[in-house]
Amino acid sequence: MKVKTLKACTNCRYLATEEEFKTKDGKWLCPVCGSTEKPTREWQGYLIIVDYTKSDIAKKMGIEHNGRYALKVRGES
Ligand SMILES: [Zn+2]
Repeated sequence: MKVKTLKACTNCRYLATEEEFKTKDGKWLCPVCGSTEKPTREWQGYLIIVDYTKSDIAKKMGIEHNGRYALKVRGES
């Protein structure tokens, strides 16, 4: 899978394909945090959380779900 085709949740930065962010009726829904904001393609860098219970970075970022996360998302300071 090409990572650059993934989109990032603007709320929790979870990275996933557009399909994963879409509900059956075509609305946006983040599978991790439940945000209904449109995910963005404007993100930089990413990390993969394999086991958030053992990851210090996950704790620091407040991640409570395994998966890929963008380090930086547009609009964030
Ligand atoms: Zn999210």
